[in-house]
Amino acid sequence: MDTIEQIESQRDELARQIASVGEFRPGNLYENARKCGNPKCQCARPDGTLHRGWLLTRKVSRKTRSRSIPKFALDDTRRQVDEHRRFVDLVRRFTEVNEMLCEQRLKLRRSEKNRFCAGGGIRRYARRRNAE
Ligand SMILES: [Zn+2]
Repeated sequence: MDTIEQIESQRDELARQIASVGEFRPGNLYENARKCGNPKCQCARPDGTLHRGWLLTRKVSRKTRSRSIPKFALDDTRRQVDEHRRFVDLVRRFTEVNEMLCEQRLKLRRSEKNRFCAGGGIRRYARRRNAE
């Protein structure tokens, strides 16, 4: 089991990494092929090719929202999506480390309290026996 000091330094390191997170956005990127809806476009013909593009989708209160990502923004969006995953992972680890820290402090305080209570109990018992 790690000491409180070790856990504190893990927490501080994670806080540093969280502070270094760049711009991010949640979602998943995927390529799709679709018709644009213009009846005069070549994509509307049976032999026409579909428009290929990239979509960024994410769930918002159980509904999937998607927006198209232009090709020029694809690399940036990939980085932003990856950065969001990194952020979520860091926050998860940061939460775990903080929880560990709280648990260790609780254990420490409990053992200090038990030591005090046990001592007090023995003293009281001894006093009572002497009084008899
Ligand atoms: Zn079209």
